[in-house]
Amino acid sequence: MHKPLEPKAPPKREQTPRQILIDLLSAQSYDVRQISKEAHLSERDVIYHLEELQCSLKKSPMRLLIEPARCLSCGYVFETRERFQKPGRCPSCKAQRISQPQFSLHTSETD
Ligand SMILES: [Zn+2]
Repeated sequence: MHKPLEPKAPPKREQTPRQILIDLLSAQSYDVRQISKEAHLSERDVIYHLEELQCSLKKSPMRLLIEPARCLSCGYVFETRERFQKPGRCPSCKAQRISQPQFSLHTSETD
């Protein structure tokens, strides 16, 4: 059953940006701009914290999944290696309508 999206209360002061990211991304996937709004961080900070988070999760059962950026004109899929920021232009057809990469957190069952 689908619940309508409710406006979120501002994050509690005691939550670190990292904790906020974990809360957001384990609920659903977001792109950098959406995270920036929800977490009240600049996009640059979001990218910084995403990179930190990805490194720190290596020892935990959680994984940061990245849905790669894609060209909306021709469907070209951008490589995700270390690339958190949206590419400016499609190398295949030169279009600038690029979907933003989406981030989400999943807990791996294996251990
Ligand atoms: Zn393209």
